[in-house]
Amino acid sequence: MIVLLKRDPEEKQLQNLLDWLRSLSLDVHISKGTNYTVLGLVGDTSTIDMELIQALDIVENVKRIQEPFKSCNRKFHPDDTVIELGGKPLGGGQFQIIAGPCSVESESQIVEVAHAVKAAGAVALRGGAFKPRSSPYSFQGLRDEGIRLLLLAKKASGLPVVTEIMDISQLPLFEEVDVIQVGARNMQNFELLKALGREKKPILLKRGLSSTIEEFLMSAEYIMASGNEEVILCERGIRTFETQTRNTLDLSAVPVLKKLTHLPVIIDPSHATGYAELVPSMSLAAAAAGADGLIVEVHNNPACALCDGMQSLTPETFARLAPQAKQVSALVREGGLL
Ligand code: PEP
Ligand code: MN
Repeated sequence: MIVLLKRDPEEKQLQNLLDWLRSLSLDVHISKGTNYTVLGLVGDTSTIDMELIQALDIVENVKRIQEPFKSCNRKFHPDDTVIELGGKPLGGGQFQIIAGPCSVESESQIVEVAHAVKAAGAVALRGGAFKPRSSPYSFQGLRDEGIRLLLLAKKASGLPVVTEIMDISQLPLFEEVDVIQVGARNMQNFELLKALGREKKPILLKRGLSSTIEEFLMSAEYIMASGNEEVILCERGIRTFETQTRNTLDLSAVPVLKKLTHLPVIIDPSHATGYAELVPSMSLAAAAAGADGLIVEVHNNPACALCDGMQSLTPETFARLAPQAKQVSALVREGGLL
């Protein structure tokens, strides 16, 4: 971190600042120029609040050199984190697919889809019980009953299950859930992130609708700083001016994230595009971009789905897509360019 001081800083204030910085176990290198003095802070600056320094009378400007995230930073943890899903590794060159309906609707629906996606090679079943909907009049999910049905499908198929939590108060219901999803709208619900940091199971963290990659990683950092290192990052499209697709899939987030963090990165092509016909191309593109996996919406009767039918694949299309996406992933990894 670099701190540029205003001209002729008051000596007492400068000494107070230096004493405080040194008390944080930082080495402070002072460069005095003719007009300005620059402080170079060396050490772990990730926990320092830049705004606190910026607000001081004697400070002109502060610049971060090191990223503000530490636990998820690849610089401190060069090896890929690998997370087990039902005994299958996700990350570290292993591409895996999570699939299932947007929402759990009935026992027959979720059990049928579970068997279908398992047969096609999915390693985990998704299905929302608590649904974050833009309108309070839209289907809100089956809630507690949805979790119960999802666990029935887990038992019937043997697949681990992934489902979204919307509030800390729901946590007791998630005891037998294998992976807890934090949706895009809750990416910066910091109290929820801290509570999930105390859990001993993987957290699938979705990127917020308008969040930068740094903000996304800082949210992962919240979970990790509270003790849970098992975070799966999911790019699910961001808000742009484009209206032809539900969101804009930021595929470049994959190589950027892979460079910055050791955590596995997956793509949700369903919410990113909003249309089933766009899901195969974006899934294959995600695999080609080096993603560690996909989370795809699949419904046994998309036309009658209570939520997101338009973007849901049929089990038949999913069964054709899954092996192709794995092949593309294997091909680019063998190629050695990524
Ligand atoms: C979902 O996965 O069902 C969902 C609501 O996704 P997102 O939070 O990405 O909108
Ligand atoms: Mn959905």
